[in-house]
Amino acid sequence: MLGAIEAGGTKFVCAVSDDELNIIEKISIPTTEPEETFAQVFDFFDQFDLKAIGIGSFGPIDTNKESSTYGYITSTPKLKWQNTDFQGAFVRRYQVPVGWNTDVNAAALGEVSLGAARDKNSCVYITVGTGIGGGAFINGEPLTGISHPEMGHFYPPKHAEDTYEGCCDFHGSCLEGLASGPAIEGRFGIKAEELGEDHKAWEIEAHYLAHAAMAYTTILSPSCIIFGGGVMNQTHLIEKVRQKFDKLLNHYLQLPSLDEYIILPGLGNEAGIKGSLLLAKRALNA
Ligand code: ADP
Ligand code: ZN
Repeated sequence: MLGAIEAGGTKFVCAVSDDELNIIEKISIPTTEPEETFAQVFDFFDQFDLKAIGIGSFGPIDTNKESSTYGYITSTPKLKWQNTDFQGAFVRRYQVPVGWNTDVNAAALGEVSLGAARDKNSCVYITVGTGIGGGAFINGEPLTGISHPEMGHFYPPKHAEDTYEGCCDFHGSCLEGLASGPAIEGRFGIKAEELGEDHKAWEIEAHYLAHAAMAYTTILSPSCIIFGGGVMNQTHLIEKVRQKFDKLLNHYLQLPSLDEYIILPGLGNEAGIKGSLLLAKRALNA
């Protein structure tokens, strides 16, 4: 059996599957502090005979195999989780291969293997939720470098009518600071899910997400860009992003049609957990 954890800032989704990635059991555990949360994850996994585990984690995390802190969550704003040896804790307990990457790189792997990008060989996956994170699958691997992509933390040009200063603890007006769910709420004083489809908020949101798509397109040249996360439940938003992206790109590149290029996840909210199961499978075969 394969085990997987999609580790988020509010909850850990844990699942076990057969070799074909059919999920057999799945639970959700609140993210409190490492010892307490890990204890509950261990209680769940202890019931099964696992061959490998995959972890897609919130971050920043250390993905550099040469580093002495490989497998750690590092400089996260969640103080109790700073410098936590996450992957190592599971290696020690289960003595099996443990795949380790970011939640969004795992989701990109899930989408390119089984989801909306399954007929393609690369993709970018971006989640627009409590924060903004982006991962990529390029050249047969989830993309990592000295660290891993932090695609939510570049500075997009401000929308001409936007006076909101941004809410990222580290950067203020980076993409996450201007376009995450809390940023939408901070700008208008109303929860994003309560804003009507015609509200100005969505034109501003589409401006930022289109700049994000422009940056990822020009820098990474993915086969498609997948937008997931709670804010994308606004089903009209993806088309607004496509239209703004089209203007920004100004036909500079030959891309697939916009509704094939800027798309929603094929695995819905299972991209992260399925991708983490794939990380387990890859760790087993490494
Ligand atoms: P997380 O980022 O914690 O994993 P989500 O991806 O669900 O969780 O993102 C939560 C954010 O998404 C919140 O800021 C919330 O306001 C926003 N959100 C959730 N549902 C909707 C919706 N239908 N429309 C717009 N925003 C939404
Ligand atoms: Zn930031």
